[in-house]
Amino acid sequence: MSGRDGPAPMLIGGKPRPGSDAPLRPVNPATGEPVQEIAAAGAGEIDEAVRDAARAAADASWAGLVPQQRAAIVRGIGDRIDAQAAHFAEMQMRENGKPRGECLAQARSAAATFRYYAAVCETLSSEMPPARGPYVPLTVHEPYGVVAAITPWNSPLTMEAQKVAPALAAGNAVVLKPSELTPSVALALGRAAIEAGLPPGVLNVVPGRGAVAGAALVAHAGVKMVSFTGGTSTGRQIAAVAADRLLPVALELGGKSPHIVFADADLDAAAEAVCQGIFEGAGQSCVAGSRLFVERDAYRAVRDRVVARARSLRVDLPDAAGVEMGPLVSREHRDRIERIVASARARGARISSGGARPQAERLRAGAFYEPTVVEGIANDDPLAQEEVFGPVICAMPFDGEEDLLRQANDTVYGLAAGVWTGDFRRAWRIARGLEAGTVWVNSYKHLSIANAFGGFKQSGLGREKGVAGMRLYQQAKSILFGL
Ligand code: NDP
Repeated sequence: MSGRDGPAPMLIGGKPRPGSDAPLRPVNPATGEPVQEIAAAGAGEIDEAVRDAARAAADASWAGLVPQQRAAIVRGIGDRIDAQAAHFAEMQMRENGKPRGECLAQARSAAATFRYYAAVCETLSSEMPPARGPYVPLTVHEPYGVVAAITPWNSPLTMEAQKVAPALAAGNAVVLKPSELTPSVALALGRAAIEAGLPPGVLNVVPGRGAVAGAALVAHAGVKMVSFTGGTSTGRQIAAVAADRLLPVALELGGKSPHIVFADADLDAAAEAVCQGIFEGAGQSCVAGSRLFVERDAYRAVRDRVVARARSLRVDLPDAAGVEMGPLVSREHRDRIERIVASARARGARISSGGARPQAERLRAGAFYEPTVVEGIANDDPLAQEEVFGPVICAMPFDGEEDLLRQANDTVYGLAAGVWTGDFRRAWRIARGLEAGTVWVNSYKHLSIANAFGGFKQSGLGREKGVAGMRLYQQAKSILFGL
């Protein structure tokens, strides 16, 4: 698997497999240097992977396992990720440029996700509702068969664990198509699964291009459910194909999350969290708090703190000591963000910090961009409406709860939100009034595998995580015994 003799192969039926599409050539965004080439799937390999997965899903070596046996394998995958956490972190850092510490934390968290779903697999019961006549009613939950998992580049291991762990725990086989920018982590996950005793073919990993491998996977008749995380426009395309096929889909899509500070909040803590909420991961997070709403009386105080922190944030190579923000995922993505900020500037926006590439010589070759605070725009400006997916926050004042809720909810997205206030009754009112799948109160970005996660409105369909996250990958069947 070293790839010394060519692109690193994909993984089908537990075996390395070359690809028929032109190899993927991921680039280290911190340095601009190429990383390991990876074989890319064409429609032929996708067909093979789905057929193999269907065979494996029905085989007694997987379908015949009782929950504690399946759980042992799922737990074993988590243990292997933990044992190789530094290796996983290194791979992710090289391909998406996130700071090493963040990558390591994500590897540990992915391991915990597998352990969590091992526990769910072993303990979640079927139901026996009250009988309404002379029969014994049962509801059992059965796997779909082959699940297609399609993941983005910003947190590949986290997203892959979040789909693969519950889908396997639920008894399915999975065909995993990672982003073309970050294919290595998924392949390493596939190898870890085989080491943990997962029967060959139960997890097939098929790196490839979205328009080729991704599209072929969603269209394949052998795929019985699709779990997708990525942009809203891709999600819409997948939903259209799925609608035609009447295929169940789970979609985790984009966001434009409001981060709200009332004047009675702890302003220091709020400003620190606002910065972390947008600049961690260089803003390439679906839940990034990219719209800052501050009650007018406190606007200047909060804005000054946020601007000062943005200016002091250490932007550096992802493996540098003390780094707080690494590069964006690619130069193309950085250039896109530059264009978005330039056009806001042309419309009259003030750039209060950042808005440029860092000047340090060692960062010149990478896709770096400074933490950027934008003021002087209204919530209906494209910068406040469109997902930038970068370290860019727009700060806006509000006057009272009604005005706040109107503006905060005035977006097509509804993924997450944060609210800072010293008044718990107001916190409750605002949390209930926000159209978002997750609301943080006096905190931001605590993510727990035990809580349901997903979007309102155009931020998605369905909920991942939590105990019900395993049911996402199963279909209920009622069986009634007549007496
Ligand atoms: P994309 O939607 O571009 O891609 C996501 C995945 O879909 C990739 O693997 C991509 O392959 C694949 N893909 C692209 N086109 C198709 C197609 N027609 N059929 C099937 N698969 C396809 O998103 P990004 O990778 O750019 O990720 C960023 C987006 O993800 C942001 O909008 C962000 O908000 C969202 N996101 C949402 C999260 C959530 O939980 N709600 C979490 C994290 C990110 P390829 O890479 O080859 O294009």
